Amino acid sequence: MKSLEPIVSLAKRRGFIFQSSEIYGGLSSCYDYGPLGVELKNNVKRMWWKAMVQDRDDVVGLDSAILMHPKTWEASGHVEGFTDPLVDCKVCKKRWRADHLLEAKGMKPDFRPGAWDKSVVCPSCGGELTDVRKFNLMFKTFMGAVEDDASQIYLRPETCQGIYVNFLNVQQSMRLKMPFGIAQVGKAFRNEITPGHFTFRTREFEQMEQQFFVAPGETGPYFEDWKARRMQWYLDLGIKKDHLRFRDHEGHELAHYAKAAADIEYLYPDQGFKELAGIHDRGNWDLSRHQEFSGQSLEYFDPEKGERYTPHIVETSDGADRATLAFLIDAYQEVEARSGDDDAKHEKEVVLRLHKQLAPIKAAILPLSKKEPLQQLAKDIQKTLRATWMTQYDETGSIGKRYRRQDETGTPFCVTVDFDSLEDKKVTVRDRDTMEQERVAVEELEAYIKEKMKV
Ligand code: ATP
Repeated sequence: MKSLEPIVSLAKRRGFIFQSSEIYGGLSSCYDYGPLGVELKNNVKRMWWKAMVQDRDDVVGLDSAILMHPKTWEASGHVEGFTDPLVDCKVCKKRWRADHLLEAKGMKPDFRPGAWDKSVVCPSCGGELTDVRKFNLMFKTFMGAVEDDASQIYLRPETCQGIYVNFLNVQQSMRLKMPFGIAQVGKAFRNEITPGHFTFRTREFEQMEQQFFVAPGETGPYFEDWKARRMQWYLDLGIKKDHLRFRDHEGHELAHYAKAAADIEYLYPDQGFKELAGIHDRGNWDLSRHQEFSGQSLEYFDPEKGERYTPHIVETSDGADRATLAFLIDAYQEVEARSGDDDAKHEKEVVLRLHKQLAPIKAAILPLSKKEPLQQLAKDIQKTLRATWMTQYDETGSIGKRYRRQDETGTPFCVTVDFDSLEDKKVTVRDRDTMEQERVAVEELEAYIKEKMKV
């Protein structure tokens, strides 16, 4: 696969991802998750939450508001500095991220007025580019009835600020001892200059962020530990090892307060290795700034050492949409026709080899005939399974066609109910990956799937 076209097409055809407001011609770089997409993305977020909160004693969750006091964004530096450098082509008028153009040429960024190297031209038409302009990426809106400067607020461009401002609320209410983390999943908004590559870069997206608070001077080992853990999470959920890599940020890329930063990059078929997630050693910049701008202390008192200090932070920052896209791409496989769907004239079929925990539908229940006794048994089986998993009941078309439909959307188990089932109370379970078919007693089906889901 060299382009995202097969993924975009499957995503639309099978109800994963649609263009937002499509009937009005679409809203640029905004997407809607369809019935299977919302299941997949929910599973991605659920597995993140499990790894980051549920499975740990030292991380708790939070769900803070998207709208925050405007001073938050002064303290965070976003009002002044959350800008992208942009250049326009004087000939074809295309707009480019200046940093991306320089990065592609291995050149160091220098965005001072007049410093633009004229040898860097428009990648599209070769035209001359304008000087660099800074463009603030925050969406503005107004709170209340009056639309003036005093009522202007922002849609949050990242979720972590809600964690910083709640640091003491969470620490004190949960009686947490350092070191500990706070995690949250939620929407963020950025008026990106060059959105695109499907859901890779959009203007409305979801982040999965965790801030780990530690004593001064102790971030180093936690930074390394979180780096390894975040990488392992993607590997455990099935992304191929050679499609992932770390990229440590070089000195000039680091924010002035940052001690270290690394990206986890994924090999996107249309653009090569690009950021999937980040791990950042942020020092005590965030809490210090909020103390300065709010006038409130955000210091932690260590009762054992009798010390008071402003905690330092190691952040892990993942994008739910970018991760969902990476899981979709990595799972997508075209294979020789194998389902037995004779109705369609095709040589290739698509199998979405999603990790079982991520698959939108875990089991499809397929009665061989629409006749009453089979339907009833199939519906009873679905009733049992749906108490635990998302299921789908499908009785239309040949069994081969139905297998093919389920393969395309990554369903790990197809449960076929046939006439023998009425007699022997057994069903045939087909495994998406091995294509093995096993006869399983209806009574044992739930336990059977539960066991297989552990893999
Ligand atoms: P990039 O360099 O790609 O713009 P970034 O370094 O600005 O990303 P962060 O601010 O570190 O990204 O955000 C953390 C994560 O949020 C990213 O790793 C990515 O997964 C996700 N993310 C950021 N911007 C977008 C976007 N516009 N669309 C989708 N996901 C995004």
